[in-house]
Amino acid sequence: MKKLFFISLICLSFNGFAQFEKYFEKKTLRIDYFHSGNIEHEYYRPDEFIEKNAWSGSEINLIDTFNFGKFRIMVYDTLSGNLIYSRGYSSLFAEWRTTEEGKGSCGNFSETVLIPYPKKVINLVFQSRDSLNNWQNVASQLIDPQKEMILKPKNNQNEILPLHYSGDITKKLDIVIIADGYTKSEVEQMKKDFETFKNYLINAQPFNLNTDKINIWGVAAISSQSGITNPRDSIKVKTAIGSSFNTLYSDRYLMTLENKTLHDQLANATYDQIIIMCNSKKYGGGGIYNFYCTAAAGNAQANFLIQHEFGHAFAGLADEYYTSDVTVEDFYPLNIEPWEPNITTLVNFDAKWKNMLDKNTAVPTPVEDTNKNLTGVYEGGGYISKGVYRPFMDCTMKSVRADAFCPVCKRAIQQMIDFYAK
Ligand SMILES: [Zn+2]
Repeated sequence: MKKLFFISLICLSFNGFAQFEKYFEKKTLRIDYFHSGNIEHEYYRPDEFIEKNAWSGSEINLIDTFNFGKFRIMVYDTLSGNLIYSRGYSSLFAEWRTTEEGKGSCGNFSETVLIPYPKKVINLVFQSRDSLNNWQNVASQLIDPQKEMILKPKNNQNEILPLHYSGDITKKLDIVIIADGYTKSEVEQMKKDFETFKNYLINAQPFNLNTDKINIWGVAAISSQSGITNPRDSIKVKTAIGSSFNTLYSDRYLMTLENKTLHDQLANATYDQIIIMCNSKKYGGGGIYNFYCTAAAGNAQANFLIQHEFGHAFAGLADEYYTSDVTVEDFYPLNIEPWEPNITTLVNFDAKWKNMLDKNTAVPTPVEDTNKNLTGVYEGGGYISKGVYRPFMDCTMKSVRADAFCPVCKRAIQQMIDFYAK
């Protein structure tokens, strides 16, 4: 029986790779587009198609099995109609449209998705979640790699440093750390910060148990001025990627609206996940699922910041806190199970961490000292104090504590690492 199981696993892997060979070349198609609208309306408009030299994603796991994110791309072979690639993700547009501004006016955001380079004509379908979290097709685009205007790679001069190498990029999780706000004279400091950042991540659980499944690369983007833009203090800095505090009017929210610049600066690199390392001492960061994350390298809490924000960007983890200055009312409707793996409204708890609970654990679980190491169902999470539950009393996704992911977050991270490292 064991032998049979082993053989069937081999067949699955072979079929996955055969699918890749059939439909894709070993390089990347970068698709830039505009995502526009507001809370009620949504539009996609293609911008540029750009070739990249290699493909760093899995050649086996082509179809997304996680069902995370606000948006999803579905890539279909037009001849057979088969789904040949898919990926869930979120974006700044998704957050902006829930703000006061996003209710009235119309926003226009540049976004990028990376897919393996198709050999034949594909139908690229953009999907969004509706109010019940179900997927709806919003736009589609036929792409013929023989006829389409696909730009050649936009290479640049950025030095790429191997910070941690464990093997073939298609069989590993590839994380790229790109510098922002470091001038030419600060390259030595940048390289020290790359090492520190890499260690913050790779020494934390559960990444420390997976060092053989991860590659980490540093991209030495050079800025013409030092530091990071902070509009609240009228500080405007000209940097390589344009990162800025006060994103969506939240002081510590550190993101960039210059999406094309970010991806142009990353043109020489191949990667699955992006971390922007910001040259600032001010507390701040941000992370969006399969989009990118940032953290302030000079802050005393940089260790926590990088782990927390990467938790959002890589594993789709939700914030587990519920008392903060983040003013998002009804962020998680209580009649819908959120897609994030580490919070629940108990609408569909079976799909979450129910199988990790001891059968004697009370649901909800009381917050008391004797339960501090117990995986349970604690009320409060996702910015909401009633009706949303988290799995542990404390976690790196709840408070400013480094290397303290709860068992549910650790499991989610592990499953995502295994998805890439195959
Ligand atoms: Zn957690």
